[in-house]
Amino acid sequence: MKVYADNAATTYLSKTARDKLIECLDNYNGNPNSLHSDGQRTQEVLDEAREIVASCINAKNPNEIYFTSGGSEADNQALLSAARGLARKGKKHLITLNIEHHAILHTMAKLEKEGFEVTYLKPQSNGIVDVKDVEDAIREDTALVSVMFANNEMGAIQPIPEIGALCKEKGVLFHTDAVQAAAHLPIDVQAMNIDMLSMSGHKFHGPKGVGILYARNGIRLVNVIEGGAQERGKRAGTVNVPGIAAMAAALKEGCDNMDANMSKVRALRDRLIAGLKDIPYSQLNGDPVKRLPGNVNWSFEGVEGESLLLHLDMYGIECSSGSACTSESLDPSHVLTGMGVPVEAAHGSLRFSLDINNDEEQVDYIIEKVHQVVEYYRSMSPYWEDLLTGKREHCIPEHA
Ligand SMILES: *Cc1c(COP(=O)(O)O)cnc(C)c1O
Repeated sequence: MKVYADNAATTYLSKTARDKLIECLDNYNGNPNSLHSDGQRTQEVLDEAREIVASCINAKNPNEIYFTSGGSEADNQALLSAARGLARKGKKHLITLNIEHHAILHTMAKLEKEGFEVTYLKPQSNGIVDVKDVEDAIREDTALVSVMFANNEMGAIQPIPEIGALCKEKGVLFHTDAVQAAAHLPIDVQAMNIDMLSMSGHKFHGPKGVGILYARNGIRLVNVIEGGAQERGKRAGTVNVPGIAAMAAALKEGCDNMDANMSKVRALRDRLIAGLKDIPYSQLNGDPVKRLPGNVNWSFEGVEGESLLLHLDMYGIECSSGSACTSESLDPSHVLTGMGVPVEAAHGSLRFSLDINNDEEQVDYIIEKVHQVVEYYRSMSPYWEDLLTGKREHCIPEHA
């Protein structure tokens, strides 16, 4: 059986998105900046995509939507804009979480080199930041709070409406990396007091290489890409109209069917969680309830996540050990260690990210094979032997 359970790394293109992509590739080849008919016809497709995206997140105005090359670019532009824009007013302090995506963390590190001060908040043991910690970290000179909507590795959903209200009250800009949340969880940028928000097409069954930055009117963006006057002068480069139209179609499809999709995927997730619970010395990472509908992140003591992953792949099960970006190095995930999971437990972790394309039969197959593979590697592991003979202490209880 083949089971794709790595939807947090990327999703497959939906039929709706694919049809839209082909339609635009075939019929809309003008440059939307051209004044002739072909250009104008293409401009209409772009305008329509902008309206669709704005309505999916309840933006006040479609002109608050900027198309980018992906979630990473949107994250970079949001942080650089807030920091450089407010530095002039003497605000040189930024707040984020230590479990953010590297698109956030590496941009923050760049800003630190430019003289900004960054506070990296640690979440509670369930992966969720305490709003009180955010409040305590805000200072007179804080320019921006950037807290992700939901975590890509262990799925914890952050208290976005509460942080939005807090930032509004304190007069601090609020950005959220909603790449994992868009089309999967309800988003309302006005009700949640979100000033800037990032999304990425390929995380919700759209194409790769296209993303979205929402920036509330009144926020001055700085350019990451310089050149022509596309995207109201804030993002140069001839616009990828087919990709954008397909992304908007995928987002709309996800938002229109969100309730049904969420309950279906949640049921699969909870079936998988229930099926792994009886493996001794193993645990679910991240809050069991406030988590992405499809995310299951599990630590198994005494084994390497990478070995499990490669062995499961031989059985046709595709998942991840940590995030796709870190899985090439053998460092444990910064997300798991950042929320206090012991290094040994982080090493033996797997992430399954389920989606509407999965079914119960596949979940049962995952449960069966994970039991088999974990037992197999434990039976060969000197580390596991040490745990059994008491030479080493367990870091996960027998029945977590
Ligand atoms: C995938 C991801 C990104 C990066 O998006 P790209 O479109 O691949 O650049 C950023 N943040 C989170 C939380 C992600 O999961």
